[in-house]
Amino acid sequence: MNTAKPVLLAAALLGLAGLMAGCAPGEPPSPGESTTAVSPGGASASPSASAGGSPSQGTGPATRSPEPAETSASASPTGAETEEPQAQGGHDDPARIDVVVNKQRPLEPLDYFPADLATPALTPGPGGDDAQLRAAAAKAAERMFAAAAADGAPMTVLSGFRSYETQVATYQHWVDVNGKAGADRVSARPGFSEHQTGLSMDIGDASGSCRLEACFADTPAGAWAAQNAHRFGFVVRYQPGQESVTGYSAEPWHLRYIGTKDAGAMFSSGAKTLETYYGLPAAPDYR
Ligand SMILES: [Zn+2]
Repeated sequence: MNTAKPVLLAAALLGLAGLMAGCAPGEPPSPGESTTAVSPGGASASPSASAGGSPSQGTGPATRSPEPAETSASASPTGAETEEPQAQGGHDDPARIDVVVNKQRPLEPLDYFPADLATPALTPGPGGDDAQLRAAAAKAAERMFAAAAADGAPMTVLSGFRSYETQVATYQHWVDVNGKAGADRVSARPGFSEHQTGLSMDIGDASGSCRLEACFADTPAGAWAAQNAHRFGFVVRYQPGQESVTGYSAEPWHLRYIGTKDAGAMFSSGAKTLETYYGLPAAPDYR
């Protein structure tokens, strides 16, 4: 299927699709900047690249491997400065759903590849046809999409897991086009993308409006997600005004799965970032 697609094509598409996504391809400071910065040859349509760059490993059995982190260490943090979870490994184990990845915290190993990727049955938006997520997140996403649709806020999936290899190609593409500094503004460095955890996805509104744009927050799906995603274990990872903490400007479309217990507690606490909620250092930029 996607194996046939050239990596570079996938990279180019990713660069476009995820442009505004601090997501995997990082996040440009502003929509306008990203738009002007984009002028690669890969302006092809139908960017089904999100998961297309990972031909090496296919979809794993969706039911295997239980979620270790969901039940174990996620109960503690009730306050923003709670340090207790760090005793569990400091949110640096990519196999746990409480892993925190940012510009100061690369995945370890850098080429981490989730063992239990699944392809959830979600309504795809452009590029989301083959979006993959880790098993627990995939199931939660299906429930969330059903609930959103029932509430009159149907959503689509635009992107899910992205492999290290895909990110290498995507980042290099932007280095070639804009130089390293320029690339860092629009693309996450390989090993630093939360999408590589298999726990993040970009969603869209079924209307297709405001795709990967700040105004997505005002669409039915965007507004619904902001208020309800936590009930399904997801949090809006990059909220407005948190750039100095997360390293990315607002991305109301980028959801991160951390399990219902933590997501609910974080929402209730008012914490706007995983860094704050888990008591981790801010990560405004790379080291
Ligand atoms: Zn994203």
